[in-house]
Amino acid sequence: MKVTVFGIGYVGLVQGAVLASVGHDVVCVDVDEEKVKNLEKGIIPIYEPGLTSLVEDNYQSGRLKFTTDSKFAVGHGDFQFIAVGTPPDEDGSADLKYVLAVAETIAKNMQTPKIIINKSTVPVGTADKVSEKIKTVLAERGEVIDFDVVSNPEFLKEGAAVNDCLKPDRIIVGTVNKHSEEMMRELYAPFNRNHDKIIVMDVRSAELTKYAANCMLATKISFMNEMSNLAEKLGADIEAVRHGIGSDPRIGYQFIYPGCGYGGSCFPKDVQALVRTANDIDYKPSILEAVEEVNYRQKNKLFEYLDRHYQGAIEGKTIALWGLSFKPNTDDMREASSRVLMEKLWENGAKVQAYDPEAMEECQRIYGQKDGLTLVGTKEAALKGADVLVICTEWSQFRAPDFDLISNSLNEKLIVDGRNMYDPNTMEKKGIAYYAIGRGRSV
Ligand code: NAD
Repeated sequence: MKVTVFGIGYVGLVQGAVLASVGHDVVCVDVDEEKVKNLEKGIIPIYEPGLTSLVEDNYQSGRLKFTTDSKFAVGHGDFQFIAVGTPPDEDGSADLKYVLAVAETIAKNMQTPKIIINKSTVPVGTADKVSEKIKTVLAERGEVIDFDVVSNPEFLKEGAAVNDCLKPDRIIVGTVNKHSEEMMRELYAPFNRNHDKIIVMDVRSAELTKYAANCMLATKISFMNEMSNLAEKLGADIEAVRHGIGSDPRIGYQFIYPGCGYGGSCFPKDVQALVRTANDIDYKPSILEAVEEVNYRQKNKLFEYLDRHYQGAIEGKTIALWGLSFKPNTDDMREASSRVLMEKLWENGAKVQAYDPEAMEECQRIYGQKDGLTLVGTKEAALKGADVLVICTEWSQFRAPDFDLISNSLNEKLIVDGRNMYDPNTMEKKGIAYYAIGRGRSV
């Protein structure tokens, strides 16, 4: 089937490549010329396990093309995916300018009927806005061409995006149009063989499903962080509590890890956007507001540990930082906890020696030649001459480090762990002062 994908980001590139891999004929279009040129040379703009070979294979086979030519792109696909960014506006609501710009481009260039599929995360009612935009432009053109706007939110996890798209848990299709439903079923049939994963519903419910999913996950994290703060003050160990509650099948073990706050391009902006949607309809979303507030506090926690440890005299200290990305297996640093920590440290006159397996280039792109930031090539190099080690991201290569090397390299035998990677008893035996999240020991 012929597919066009607008937006070659984490969602658009992965979905485009995955759809091509099962045999669809896919054109990915972006306004970013450099990105498109690089992709044509085999340079993949993001780090995502398994993505490079998937893109290369399908590009070579001719089933996956990249372009900036929107007229060609609109002409190509019977399906037009919108997978552009929906960043937060100043008031926290989702900014729809990119989505509506794509709608306009499609409307200006379409000559045949299209199914327009919204994959971007968008507030309830956006499909209506996209429809309106297309109708207006078609009316200006004096043309009547059939189209339908379907909501098909994306649930991939960065770091596991290829696998998530190849083997989705569910495929939400928001439409009441039977023809669109059939076409969507045909498009996704290769991913729907094991059992029926397609859940069809009305458009508004599909739009809300995406926000409800992300807000539920963010709620689980903030809930555990709240418990971890209580555990810390009450002399309990949140890791024991986590084991204790996860054993209840109604709760389960998944996604109940305490830490130094959630980041990324989705949870922070989607919680904010749903709060905003609720405010607009005069509803006070008390749980969502609390989720955001707890997360905001949690992201400051590592700095607070350090500040208390050094009794406010953090100026001139050098912090070895392991992990810059907002979670492992990605180079994405959007809203990462590491950024909150580094910026606080710089404000207070400390220096950072940082290492991340994949996010170094991204960090360089964000901060450039920043005073107080040294990016180093290995986790061991980050320790040299530093006062303390802080961990922001739970990359697997940080799981079993050489603790003797850590002790010998640091000026002070001190680890501040934002992801609870180590056993406090082992640390004690090794003579390392160890501060983790909610483990019964506050600084
Ligand atoms: P991204 O920022 O990585 O990529 C967006 C791309 O769209 C960019 O390359 C940009 O140049 C391009 N673009 C902007 N305007 C365009 C236009 N008019 N025509 C063509 N291309 C245009 O974004 P992303 O992380 O892929 O997210 C896209 C959407 O999917 C967002 O709404 C996001 O909330 C949602 N989402 C993201 C994830 C995730 O893990 N990243 C998961 C699920 C859903």
